[in-house]
Amino acid sequence: MLIDCHVHINNYDSTQLADPRQTADKLFAAMQESGVSHAVILTSYFVNEHRPHVDEAIALLGDDPRVTLIEGLRWRVDDTRTDLFRMEERIAAGQVRGIKLYPGYDKYAINDPSLEGVMRIAAKHKVPVMIHCGDTYSKHAKLRQAHPLLVDDLAVDYPDVDFVICHLGNPWFQDTAEVLYKNDNVYADISGLTLGDFHYEFERYMVQRVRDMITYMGDPGRQLLYGTDWPLAGMKTYRKFFDSLELDEDARDNIAWRNAARLFRIDVERLR
Ligand SMILES: [Zn+2]
Repeated sequence: MLIDCHVHINNYDSTQLADPRQTADKLFAAMQESGVSHAVILTSYFVNEHRPHVDEAIALLGDDPRVTLIEGLRWRVDDTRTDLFRMEERIAAGQVRGIKLYPGYDKYAINDPSLEGVMRIAAKHKVPVMIHCGDTYSKHAKLRQAHPLLVDDLAVDYPDVDFVICHLGNPWFQDTAEVLYKNDNVYADISGLTLGDFHYEFERYMVQRVRDMITYMGDPGRQLLYGTDWPLAGMKTYRKFFDSLELDEDARDNIAWRNAARLFRIDVERLR
């Protein structure tokens, strides 16, 4: 069983329009082709004709057992910021089962004090907070604000909240390994380590980085999660990358689906 904990239904090809329904259909085809049983969809930090609002994602996919929705926080760059009261309603209703932050892209730092209300909602409803960390797809984003070491501040200040460092904090793998080693309430997903398909040399490089992290932090099955960042990264290439890590069976199953199922409260009996 494989759960992809990090996918998007945004259209990243600005030369042509694609509605979210078309992108979702492509997602389901990719999942089937790659043997992915369930995907966690993260909505964006802004809304336009290429990026659906969370309410649109709920209307489209809210009842689909193949996916879980995570609400992207809209905080600084959009003309409308997330109404936290409405976000809490969506969380309480189970329409979304987590929050995604886009620090750096959205021009705030991971440990920005303005996020306190967001963290209180996450703690109250016991939903994880996923955080974009490390390299940014956009040249307009600010890297320092998305450094994984800052997740340590949140982990300490909000011990009742589970956090997910996305992309292993690439390229600050050692910092991420330390934040994971130190904090039991921090997880990390392996998504987005390449754009498109892995080239051979780069795959070897990334496999070694992940192995170095494991050497430092110990059991990788405790806190790592499988994810791709589809459609930015390919699902097939990611399965191959995951296999190349040559993990023992228990750690592999934890990363492939057990940790995600627990964190996002995914009913795996329905997936079998
Ligand atoms: Zn992503």
